[in-house]
Amino acid sequence: WLEENSNNRHSVVDGYMSNFGFGSGKPRAALISLVRNSELEGMMQSMRQLEYRWNRKYRYPWIFFNDEPFTEDFKAGTRNLTAAKCYYEVVPRGHWSLPDWIDESRFMNSLEYLGTIGVGKGWMVSYHHMCRWNSGFFYKHPFLKNYDWYWRVEPDVHYFCDIDYDVFRFMRDNNMKYGFNMNILDDARSFPSLWTRTRAFAAAHLGLIHPEADLGWLLDPQAGGEYNNCQFFSNFEIGSLNFWRGEGNEAYFNWLDKAGGFYYERFGDAPVHTLSVAMFVPKSEIWYFRDIGYQHDINHHCPPHREAKCSCQPTKMDENFYKLVPLESPQRKPADTCIRQFLGGE
Ligand code: GDP
Ligand code: MN
Repeated sequence: WLEENSNNRHSVVDGYMSNFGFGSGKPRAALISLVRNSELEGMMQSMRQLEYRWNRKYRYPWIFFNDEPFTEDFKAGTRNLTAAKCYYEVVPRGHWSLPDWIDESRFMNSLEYLGTIGVGKGWMVSYHHMCRWNSGFFYKHPFLKNYDWYWRVEPDVHYFCDIDYDVFRFMRDNNMKYGFNMNILDDARSFPSLWTRTRAFAAAHLGLIHPEADLGWLLDPQAGGEYNNCQFFSNFEIGSLNFWRGEGNEAYFNWLDKAGGFYYERFGDAPVHTLSVAMFVPKSEIWYFRDIGYQHDINHHCPPHREAKCSCQPTKMDENFYKLVPLESPQRKPADTCIRQFLGGE
């Protein structure tokens, strides 16, 4: 599998990290999910597939987060699906409420605007708390203090393929910081100031930017080097918690948060994570999990060539997908374009 994947332009430098004493002991890692009690069925669906395809072999704990306490039903339903430990954590109030520098009536006005342009769920108050939590708070939850790695799982997603290796060991032993498997385009009208704010941040914090940072794949030459709106689809992530806890990301998150973009606009955790990773992580430490078949709503990824057993058919899936999103639709092409841009024209 590794050899197949090392076709990746950004692949691991062979043997590089094996000299550094990595690779011993089980990584301190968990499957984490922010989820509502009402999403129990969807959560069970995601868990069943991920347990069957992967976690029954590795038994990493599940940690569920919620802005209110989990019900006994939710706990019983999920616990029943895994031999691993399950933990149920409430998000601290301060991580899920309007900061005092936010003007509430301005926030209400933007909810109305976001409702009229109909982008995602931008009209919901809770959606803004959720995006902000996923951007700047999940890795600060006290329960994650003793963890280094996470795999983000959402209710109602699908995992299509057997995964026969420990993805957390893989991340650690190859010195990876961030792993993704879809790269999509979002409607930039919901985050109009994100790019100018990010540029201003970078200009004011040049010392924090990684010397090997590569933002080239996120720039649109036709638009004078503006953000092309490509983003890692963050409902699937396998990553390092310590990366998010680092100085660069913290400074960046606080910069965005102070300006209010999580409320006055819909700064999503997907573009925010993408820009942060691009500024603070060299491409060689970002991994494309092209072997992990996955679906979230109409977006899916079915590995093109694989030894692993998958329950998705790339062509059939593609046909279904094309039915939903017509061939010529601008929504379809850019999704491919973003991956190609990232891989450097592969
Ligand atoms: P989308 O993928 O952008 O459409 O956003 P989702 O509605 O799927 O939300 C992303 C994740 O956050 C999912 O795992 C949801 O279950 C979770 N989530 C969203 N809003 C809330 C909320 O108000 N409370 C809790 N506990 N979870 C939420
Ligand atoms: Mn979702």
